[in-house]
Amino acid sequence: MSGAHGTRHDAGSTLPIGVALLGATGSIGHTAQRVMARHRDRFRFVAMTANGDLDGLAEAVAEWKPSYAGLASPTPRSRAGAGAQVPAGWGTGPGCLVEAAQHPDAAIVLNAIVGAAGLDATLAALEKGKRVALANKESLVVGGALVQRAVSEHGGEVIPVDSEHSALLQCCAGRIGVPKAGAAGAAGGAPLQGLLPLAGVRRLIITASGGPFRTWSTERIAAAKLDDALQHPTWSMGRKITIDSASLANKALEVIEAHVLFGVPYDRIEVVVHPQSIVHSMVEFEDGSVMAQMGVPSMELPVLYALSYPERLEDDGVPRFDPVASGTLTFEPVRHDAFPTLGLGIAAGKSGGAAPAVFNAANESAVARVLDGSLPFSMIPGAIEAALSRHAGLPGDDKSSLLAADAAARQTVQEF
Ligand code: NDP
Repeated sequence: MSGAHGTRHDAGSTLPIGVALLGATGSIGHTAQRVMARHRDRFRFVAMTANGDLDGLAEAVAEWKPSYAGLASPTPRSRAGAGAQVPAGWGTGPGCLVEAAQHPDAAIVLNAIVGAAGLDATLAALEKGKRVALANKESLVVGGALVQRAVSEHGGEVIPVDSEHSALLQCCAGRIGVPKAGAAGAAGGAPLQGLLPLAGVRRLIITASGGPFRTWSTERIAAAKLDDALQHPTWSMGRKITIDSASLANKALEVIEAHVLFGVPYDRIEVVVHPQSIVHSMVEFEDGSVMAQMGVPSMELPVLYALSYPERLEDDGVPRFDPVASGTLTFEPVRHDAFPTLGLGIAAGKSGGAAPAVFNAANESAVARVLDGSLPFSMIPGAIEAALSRHAGLPGDDKSSLLAADAAARQTVQEF
């Protein structure tokens, strides 16, 4: 593990690599535990955190016996009711995320926190030169420049867990950070500044399932209920990302994530709808060749790959792909009129400054309101637009200005 502190596979070492799992009680957190259960000889959890799910974290801790556990929320949730006690020795409060991320025995920090709350832990891990296996795409959307700075100053690395970005990385294996002799960037042009810089790439093509409303008319989407939005056709995920997938806000976050990760300009990142979710993304190279990464929709492979990269580990747990059984694969253009959130997010990414953070915060806030029933699903784009029109021009050079923009966007959406 290049540049990683703590336990690692140094030549001759047989110790399992230490992993800190942030967001252990969530969808990705559970996926990671399933994957790690098949690779106990290679990896071990040394730290685990959750937000408020005391019982869920206690179960994970009992299973994995990490030396550190922490609950970020001051108000834990438990079947035992309000009086439930956090076990002695556990970290508490948001500071526990940084403690877990900087755990001296963790070579890899798997950041599976949802939302902008994951940014501090990403930065904290990178400050210690660790590998961040990043599911928390919001870290890159909100603080892309801060993450970039932390990597260049401290030598850590970011390996994506998002299936699309894992696919892009797999399509480009061996080409990351290898500049083409005599050429500067993708298909010529200025040098690219990505966390995993790519040369010789003409286009990144990110696939989108299209979500539950892919075939719905705009009028029908306008009347969509929360339960409709939570019915994802191909992926089983946490509630926030499921709503993001229905509005295509998730795809906007992913386009920004791809730009920050690979340094490819926005006009060379395309989104195509692929309802079967078999092709996880594609890369077009400068000679016109297109590479695609395929497989059944499962987050287990991207999690495993982010841990083992650049190696591949033998693993029989990931469901096998049967091309004949998978049937016909189809691709469609995005219906931007029905899903305006995608365009809003990409425009925010292109604007730079605080705009991506404003987009993200407005979206998080709007989704929280959709989930608590105080905002209809169809109002998400309007709420985001209101926040962007007021705050997109705010500065976003450092953490305090990004936090101010984030707070302003949330306030606007609360009042929307
Ligand atoms: P979930 O909502 O299922 O889980 C979120 C996890 O983060 C839980 O452990 C939760 O703890 C914890 N958490 C929530 N808020 C905070 C906070 N403020 N501080 C600390 N911890 C917090 O989310 P997912 O697993 O679905 O998604 C996690 C990330 O991975 C997101 O960024 C998402 O976009 C990304 N992702 C997810 C995919 C999926 O298949 N689920 C696919 C690709 C990317 P608690 O349970 O205690 O509330």
